[in-house]
Amino acid sequence: MSKRDYYEVLGVERGADQKEIKKAYRRLAQKYHPDRNPDDDTSAEKFREVSEAYEVLTDSEKRAAYDQFGHAGVDGQAGGGGGFGGAGAGGFSDIFGDVFGDIFGGGGARRHPNAPQRGSDLRYNLELDLEDAVAGTSVDIRVPRHVECERCDGDGAEPGSTKETCPTCNGMGQVRMQQGFFAVQQTCPTCHGSGQHIKVPCHGCNGEGRVRETRTLSVKIPAGVDTGDRIRLNGEGEAGLNGGPAGDLYVQVAIKEHPIFERDGRHLQCEVPINFVDASLGGELEVPTLDGRIKLKIPPETQTGKLFRLKGKGVKPVRGGPAGDLLCKVVVETPVKLSEEQKDLLRQFQDSLEGSNSHHSPKKTSFFDGVKKFFEDMKP
Ligand SMILES: [Zn+2]
Ligand SMILES: [Zn+2]
Repeated sequence: MSKRDYYEVLGVERGADQKEIKKAYRRLAQKYHPDRNPDDDTSAEKFREVSEAYEVLTDSEKRAAYDQFGHAGVDGQAGGGGGFGGAGAGGFSDIFGDVFGDIFGGGGARRHPNAPQRGSDLRYNLELDLEDAVAGTSVDIRVPRHVECERCDGDGAEPGSTKETCPTCNGMGQVRMQQGFFAVQQTCPTCHGSGQHIKVPCHGCNGEGRVRETRTLSVKIPAGVDTGDRIRLNGEGEAGLNGGPAGDLYVQVAIKEHPIFERDGRHLQCEVPINFVDASLGGELEVPTLDGRIKLKIPPETQTGKLFRLKGKGVKPVRGGPAGDLLCKVVVETPVKLSEEQKDLLRQFQDSLEGSNSHHSPKKTSFFDGVKKFFEDMKP
């Protein structure tokens, strides 16, 4: 695969200065960043391409070699251990720190290892019965998470002991690692980014500053929530680091399937079976609603599939507004397990319809009329 010209990749002139290159890179890196384009191979490739161009063009030596020999001038160094990641890498991570800040999480870009870090947000998937979601409820959930260690106040050192500068990273909290093509800054494996070495780790948390704990939380579920709604509990996520605030806990709601009702936003739908006599003569049906049964009048000659709308018997939306409707769909049932006597009655009934079929079965009549027309149209 032939490589694109680095200047072209960044969209800058050949004479562009460092500032212009940084600016172009910043814009493109943001656009193609993997965090913004998850599972997009094209963006990932562009991101790699843009980063590579930036690496070369911000290193005066490599840029000179590239200007003179093109890709051949710098490619040799790329795969090799020490080629990349010299002077250029400093600028590389600097700009990452500027541009992305927290997007990178605990990754290599953090410049102040001892700065307070906000704890991670947590997500809890909660399944609710339809009735509870519509009426609102309160549920207890058990959430395993990291909380600040009480013994050391999150410090990690046994109370009364002292800390010293981490010998691996000299207090920087980060070490430089060669990772294939790039040199990247990584959190120091010895001190986990704190830059300090704890002489006597806290007996409560083994020097972590946080302990794992499962806490039971009572969550108030407002009436009308639906699948996809999130309830945020401030500060109930993971404890922060270095005195940073705790993250939030998001309760992600999903509604379980209901045996009778199907929900569509603020409307509910259900199927109501009726026998063909009631459907023919009309009558009164009992239909279920979420707050008890109510009577529904069925007019004579009701066909299967007919929808009856019960105003206001749906769901009151959590974000306000009037309650939706309940739509009852009538399904006319064919009788089963008939006795000989009942079958005889039906045959008599059928005889009484003879000759006047079109009159009694509107759908059947129009169907067979349509079939007839269909075959007539096909005749040459
Ligand atoms: Zn502790
Ligand atoms: Zn360290």
